[in-house]
Amino acid sequence: MKKYLLNKLCDLISIRSFSGQEEKIASYIFNELKRNNIRAKKDSAGNVLAFAGKGKKRLIVNGHMDTVDIVDGWKTNPLKPKISGGKIYGLGASDMKSGLAVMLELAKTVKPNIEVIFAFTVCEEGSTIQGNVNGVKELIKKYTADYAITCESSVVDGKLSLCLGCQGRAAADISVFGKAAHSSKYECGKNAIYDACKITEKVEKYGESLKPIKVYKDCTIKPSISVVAIEAEGGKTRNIIPDLCKVYVDRRLSLGENLNTFKKEVAGFTKGIDCSIKFIHTSNAAITDMSGKLFKTALKCYKEKYGKESLYFGRGRLDLVFFAGENMEILNMGPGLAGQAHTANEHCRISDMEDCAVLLKDIIERI
Ligand SMILES: [Zn+2]
Repeated sequence: MKKYLLNKLCDLISIRSFSGQEEKIASYIFNELKRNNIRAKKDSAGNVLAFAGKGKKRLIVNGHMDTVDIVDGWKTNPLKPKISGGKIYGLGASDMKSGLAVMLELAKTVKPNIEVIFAFTVCEEGSTIQGNVNGVKELIKKYTADYAITCESSVVDGKLSLCLGCQGRAAADISVFGKAAHSSKYECGKNAIYDACKITEKVEKYGESLKPIKVYKDCTIKPSISVVAIEAEGGKTRNIIPDLCKVYVDRRLSLGENLNTFKKEVAGFTKGIDCSIKFIHTSNAAITDMSGKLFKTALKCYKEKYGKESLYFGRGRLDLVFFAGENMEILNMGPGLAGQAHTANEHCRISDMEDCAVLLKDIIERI
């Protein structure tokens, strides 16, 4: 198993698969499934699906095939896997081609008592806020399920962990209006940048005041808010008081929060300021059903293998939110190292792939 996981991950890293350019990696995965005599198909969105088992209940095991662009700071060629010190380095090693390798292994070996669809999907990275295609959104139009497991990085503090859910996301594009004037007579105008700065200051202070929310036992999550971009133009020359400044605010929604929570906050930040606001709402936070079969089974399998459970709640948005939106019980567990996503010299540990494959197989076969 170790050799197979290692080989597959190296192959997957070698195939470039930026969002929207997944054709090559999809063909590789499809051919690999066919080579192992697994029932598989490609759907119209470009996702690759593999089928195992039969039964009334259905589980989707999901992983995205795309990666982000290459960031600065790589010491090796990110598209050439490098093995060193029990780790594999390469673009997508943690996010999330190691998860895909585990899914390929499981599709080959798992003996479930329910129907399992292994879904290798397109366009996860950055697709949601821009409103582009998302493979999971397309998938769930055709396939409902009772349970969904995503295989995104869940090795936290060196330990393979169960991720109970994740935060949601909303954003606000705020256009602050001023009045243009010659800078030598600034008092005749109204500087949009100054008003925008008042907003950013309030956002920063408010962000620091947000308190962690309890999720489960000693598992907590901190909601967050940040100004992520500012755009202003004073005209073609540098002697004009700007009449427009845009402030972009990103809000991670925690449990119990929704778009209205954020709208009220933004109303507070912009009170008395001449502006227009465009809101974007990707999703609310999602959490698994603690009394549901998926969580109970996963917890049992985990405790049998490791003794004490290791649980956390994801701060970033995962495709889990779409499955949760269809009332599926959800869980995330994958062999990547949390915190490695979108970083230079991204890597994952070989032993985590093996551990994850063994545990996931157990969970899938016992549910
Ligand atoms: Zn990912």
